[in-house]
Amino acid sequence: MIRVVVLGSKGRVGSQIVRGVRAARDLELAGEVDVGDDLAGVLARGRPQVAVDFTTPSAAEPNAEAALRAGAHAVVGTTGLEDTALRRLDTLARERRLACIVAPNFALGAVLMMRFAEEAARHFPWVEIVERHHEGKVDAPSGTARLTAERVAAARAAPKEPEGATEGAPGARGGRVAGVPVHSLRLPGSVAHQEVWFGGPGESLVLRHDAIDRAVYVPGVLLAVRRASLHVGLVQGLEAVLWPSR
Ligand code: NAP
Repeated sequence: MIRVVVLGSKGRVGSQIVRGVRAARDLELAGEVDVGDDLAGVLARGRPQVAVDFTTPSAAEPNAEAALRAGAHAVVGTTGLEDTALRRLDTLARERRLACIVAPNFALGAVLMMRFAEEAARHFPWVEIVERHHEGKVDAPSGTARLTAERVAAARAAPKEPEGATEGAPGARGGRVAGVPVHSLRLPGSVAHQEVWFGGPGESLVLRHDAIDRAVYVPGVLLAVRRASLHVGLVQGLEAVLWPSR
């Protein structure tokens, strides 16, 4: 049994992680921490092997530091940690011979979609990305669309574009990330969705990922929890947990 403490346990993602840990036969929920709770006390009583953090950027570093000092690996989903904070956590984790896994996207399907897109781009240089999110998302394109475009652009030999095409309405052909057209839709009834379209002579290939619930992050987080003891120091991205040798 791996003993796990969840920080941000009442939050949208944290509460899903609590549910996931409770449901897993090989994991034991050793404690929950949310705003106002006694983190040091929970760590001392719970003696976790792993602490999972889905809180806020300002809380995540001190939380991970406290977890590492208490002898637990840290799995951090909270986004927005500064590079300096990551470097400090790396140093502390190495000193303690523990892992600090930090990933901006724990959705297994999204990580796989990016890897498959990279592979497809080696054979299909015509690529366009369509991402769709709920109407409350203020930034565009999404971070995942950006990262996908960058990885696709790096993998393909040369970009392919229609020659002499015009845009009758500005933006009709989408925005460009690393030369890849990205089309962002913002609509009620959506959560987080992405399609990567590839075209070749007489065929098209579409990779699609739909996140319809925050439960999407649970399998990736639990995988990181289970594999944390295989690593020492800072590990960035779920890819490094899925494919350690890459
Ligand atoms: P949320 O619903 O606001 O949950 C955060 C929870 O943490 C809240 O219950 C909050 O309490 C609590 N909290 C704040 N400070 C704390 C502290 N010092 N100690 C313990 N708990 C504390 O946010 P969310 O949507 O779950 O997202 C949380 C973080 O995960 C964000 O940074 C988000 O960007 C990130 N995220 C990452 C992924 C990924 O795949 N890596 C996916 C989704 C989200 P109060 O509400 O009382 O402040």
